[in-house]
Amino acid sequence: MIQRETAEPVIKYLHGLTYDGVLSSEEIWNLAQWLNQQPKKILEAWPANELVKALNSAFADNELTAGEMDELAQLMITIEQLWMEFAPRVGEHHEEEKEEVVAAAPGKPHKAALPEFDFSTTLEGGMAVELKKHTCTCNEWLENRTDFSEGDFRRFCPHMAKAYSRLKAAESAKLDPAFDAFVEDYRSRGKGTSVDEVWQVADLKAGKILYATSPTKEWVDVYAPGRSGYQRYGYNRKEHRWAYGETPRQIARDIPALFARATANEGTRTED
Ligand SMILES: [Zn+2]
Repeated sequence: MIQRETAEPVIKYLHGLTYDGVLSSEEIWNLAQWLNQQPKKILEAWPANELVKALNSAFADNELTAGEMDELAQLMITIEQLWMEFAPRVGEHHEEEKEEVVAAAPGKPHKAALPEFDFSTTLEGGMAVELKKHTCTCNEWLENRTDFSEGDFRRFCPHMAKAYSRLKAAESAKLDPAFDAFVEDYRSRGKGTSVDEVWQVADLKAGKILYATSPTKEWVDVYAPGRSGYQRYGYNRKEHRWAYGETPRQIARDIPALFARATANEGTRTED
């Protein structure tokens, strides 16, 4: 049973931690300290009770291993998912907090939403996809994606990429260039989004960028403007480097600031 009164303060704290997509051991120690200061009423209720149990077991040997970090990150994802089901309008609160957290960062990232169109189509194989509420009749969508709130990128199964592509052909609809690059990339790879990742948008000087973060992953997929239009880049938030030596020059300068909280926790980094 989820009670908003006892859950919301904890969820708010977790959002501050997981927004930058990298969970550090320092953040986990801080979480443990913060929980220690909370009243009993909160500690005995969900989700604090589950966090306390997991932290006690992780800290039992006074050492935090990579495996224990992964388990804690997974627990936080599960908590977030349950909370989203309990409070579907939480997205709005979420955005406000994010803006506070990143007030000093460029572009103020916010949660990305799938664009809505009055368009439905049936694909080869019989899957019916519609792009208003972003539903699909495939088993994978019904099993994994139906609980995410409308517009959430985690509702994006492989068939949705095809549907957006058809929409462009049929109605010459214009998609935002970052989203267009995302659709074409997922279509060419025959992929749906990972349900462990949260998609964000940031408006930088050189243009809008779209990227996916997960507390368990070092690599971030970034759709950003490049030499010949938007394309996908990979950025390693821990090592502060771009994949394949390829850097989206127009936005590269803004990226470390965007992920500043991650860099601040991990000491010095080299400029190149
Ligand atoms: Zn599907």
